[in-house]
Amino acid sequence: MAIISSNIGDSNFPPRKQELRIVDSKIVSEENNNKNLNFARPKTFKEFIGQEQIKASLRIAIDASLYRKEALEHTLLYGQPGLGKTTLAFLIANEMNTRFRIASAPAIERPRDIVGLLLGLKEGEVLFIDEIHRLNRLTEELLYSAMEDFRLDLTMGANRGARCRTINLPRFTLIGATTKLASISAPLRDRFGISQKIEFYSNDELHQIISNYSNLINLTLEDKASRALAKISRGTPRIALRLLKRIRDYAQVIKKTNLIDLDVVKKALNSQKIDAKGLDYLDRKYLSFLNLNNNSPIGLDAIAAGLGEDSSMLEFVVEPYLMQIGFLTRTSRGRLLTSLGKRYINSNNDNF
Ligand code: ADP
Repeated sequence: MAIISSNIGDSNFPPRKQELRIVDSKIVSEENNNKNLNFARPKTFKEFIGQEQIKASLRIAIDASLYRKEALEHTLLYGQPGLGKTTLAFLIANEMNTRFRIASAPAIERPRDIVGLLLGLKEGEVLFIDEIHRLNRLTEELLYSAMEDFRLDLTMGANRGARCRTINLPRFTLIGATTKLASISAPLRDRFGISQKIEFYSNDELHQIISNYSNLINLTLEDKASRALAKISRGTPRIALRLLKRIRDYAQVIKKTNLIDLDVVKKALNSQKIDAKGLDYLDRKYLSFLNLNNNSPIGLDAIAAGLGEDSSMLEFVVEPYLMQIGFLTRTSRGRLLTSLGKRYINSNNDNF
């Protein structure tokens, strides 16, 4: 049973809405209509490109829940940043015809934050918690009974004045997203009935995503240009869309055009110091550092200190792609450059 102490009696309880990052799915839909690239999320499963197996199995689970008029089982989505976990969670709520509430685990600091969130839910609604591996212990403990029995077990007050109270909750769906599955405790992980790993995208899928977004924002993107962009987007839609924005800026400001061909892509990426493999300045700095120091494995912290960068940023942003393209291996003793990685960094590859 989680202890809320006397917080629950204070004037800030339940928490004010603005203390939490909660967005109604209607607001997100309106943002979709703005044609702003940041908010141009797919609105249906059909518009969500790739991840076919995941969509098929979610489709069955969603249709079965709708048939039984029940909330969807709690769902865990995990995978690298930018692969579409938030988007998929939003689409699940859309397909379930229900409201989507979004919160980020680091913002749920006090037990009363999660209590307020849970008490604000209605039957069948979706609560999405991003970075769920970062929940603190008390919050996590409160979630156990909320997820399993749709019940909150609270202890209010302290010592001899403590009172226990049980509050029944509506049947809701918790969707958790994480980049670090291994950091989620087993009791929390076990309470998710559905668990899906979001994979990197193929170049064809990224090409499709890029083309769809170009249409949405009235850019004419030549096929070759879109394919070249897909190739360097690290299997990640967020990176593809970010690069597309930079290329759009370059085309509109320097070339005064909305037409993007391969030449514009090359020039725009060169101006951003992104090379033909999609590696940027930091990737090359990382590879060069290993190349200089590396005949034996080097630990992540030593690399981070040597480069003056944050180690988790290197671990989650820089390294996955370098491993994916075969330039880097992780061993129990540290990071090692592969011969492919060595060859690449020793040839001059700064240009797209
Ligand atoms: P995550 O939550 O995994 O970090 P997001 O859901 O925020 O990723 O996705 C990042 C961006 O990429 C968003 O703009 C989203 O609309 C887009 N995106 C991600 N996956 C897809 C997909 N499969 N099809 C179309 N767009 C996608």
